[in-house]
Amino acid sequence: MLKLYETRHRELLPVSGRGSELKVYCCGPTVYRDAHVGNLRTFLLSDLIWRAATHSGLAVTLIQNITDVGHMANDLEDKVLAQSKSESLDPFAIARKYEDRFHHDLNRLNITSASSYPRASENIDLMIASIEKLIAEGFAYVAADGNVYFDAQSFPSYGAISGNRLDALKPGHRYEYVEDGAKKFHADWALWKLARDRTEMIWDTPWGPGYPGWHIECSAMSLEYLGEVIDLHVGGIDLRFPHHENERAQSNSLTGTEVVTHWVHGEHLLFEGRKMSKSAGNVVLLQDIIDREIDPLAARLSFLENRYRSQMDLTWASLEAAHSTIKRWRGLVSAGASKTEPKMDQEFIDAIYADLDTPRALQRLRAIEKSSDYSAQEKSEIFLAADQILGLDLSRPPIVRELTQEQSDLLEQRAKARSEKNFAESDRLRTLLEESGLQIKDGADGQSWS
Ligand code: AMP
Ligand code: ZN
Repeated sequence: MLKLYETRHRELLPVSGRGSELKVYCCGPTVYRDAHVGNLRTFLLSDLIWRAATHSGLAVTLIQNITDVGHMANDLEDKVLAQSKSESLDPFAIARKYEDRFHHDLNRLNITSASSYPRASENIDLMIASIEKLIAEGFAYVAADGNVYFDAQSFPSYGAISGNRLDALKPGHRYEYVEDGAKKFHADWALWKLARDRTEMIWDTPWGPGYPGWHIECSAMSLEYLGEVIDLHVGGIDLRFPHHENERAQSNSLTGTEVVTHWVHGEHLLFEGRKMSKSAGNVVLLQDIIDREIDPLAARLSFLENRYRSQMDLTWASLEAAHSTIKRWRGLVSAGASKTEPKMDQEFIDAIYADLDTPRALQRLRAIEKSSDYSAQEKSEIFLAADQILGLDLSRPPIVRELTQEQSDLLEQRAKARSEKNFAESDRLRTLLEESGLQIKDGADGQSWS
């Protein structure tokens, strides 16, 4: 049985739904830019859970929202609207463009599609209904500035997920929006904001035209698409507070129950030892990896080399290494008979079930790869089964291409030029060979190519 660390209880708990059904919600992307490899690590987490839970016999329904409105940047501007200005494109065109690119990235990483991807902007009615109910039942109020706020003090167990209890939260602490003095309590947050001079991405409501807060979007959509019992809720560690605390307060107040059974958070990814940020200029996209002729699934394998609950450092060297490993494993799988049946290794799957211990699972595969106790056929079967969880396309045959006659001739001429110390000619030939798709290396025992 699959067990996962549960953030609120701070312990490993079995993953179980009602009967054989498992309902999972994963906070989706804010579609104002391409997902970077850190975002993709978090999106891989829900895929891994999906694969492991499915393997354990559960029928998983996964909902992942698309945040196309309401997510504010530090300067309090809507991220999608800000990008729409900088690209001189309609905000909805921006949102759809980056949503398409998000799906493209998921495909390239073999991330299984969610059951549906509801868009915030298409579910505004649900949010309005939720806010009306929260006001009617005394959990929210319309403030003097016209915005609607959630009354944090109406929810006594606020802070249970992150440990950030209300009495310890100081005024002036950043809660995503720094509103003026209209709130009753400094930790209250906006459910609905009046448009004021904003003219795009606004909707009519009983409180005037405006737009939703980011947190209410996830409550409204998760309750609508999954119901009042959500078995598992996934997101990156930074969402624990305030996003998930606020979502929990809203959803529990709306239903009078503890809506989410199991909160799961993935740790962050660094790149070459540093936090990725636009200002530092070190944001890495999946496309950057592909542009270096590294298999995008090498990113997937690199993520899997680390436990989802540990911060990890992705490097170009680890991506290159993962690329070679995948090639080698494809060779290993294709060495089996043409009709290889997958055969799951117990130790491998036990490691996966133990809070997705992918490093241990991969270590087990490497031990099998090296061991002489397994035949080539058995290895092929085990790796094929493991790939149902790993998603590395190991059954794809390694690409073996023959040299063309022209390439062989050029290689021969270049070897000759080198032996004659005619370096100008050898450089000229190297350029031609590289243009034909070969990589050339010069070593102590002559040139080699790949
Ligand atoms: P966003 O598109 O900014 O709303 O983020 C989408 C998801 O990516 C959220 O679950 C974030 O917690 C997660 N995330 C953001 N930065 C990182 C990072 N460096 N490493 C891992 N996950 C991240
Ligand atoms: Zn969310």
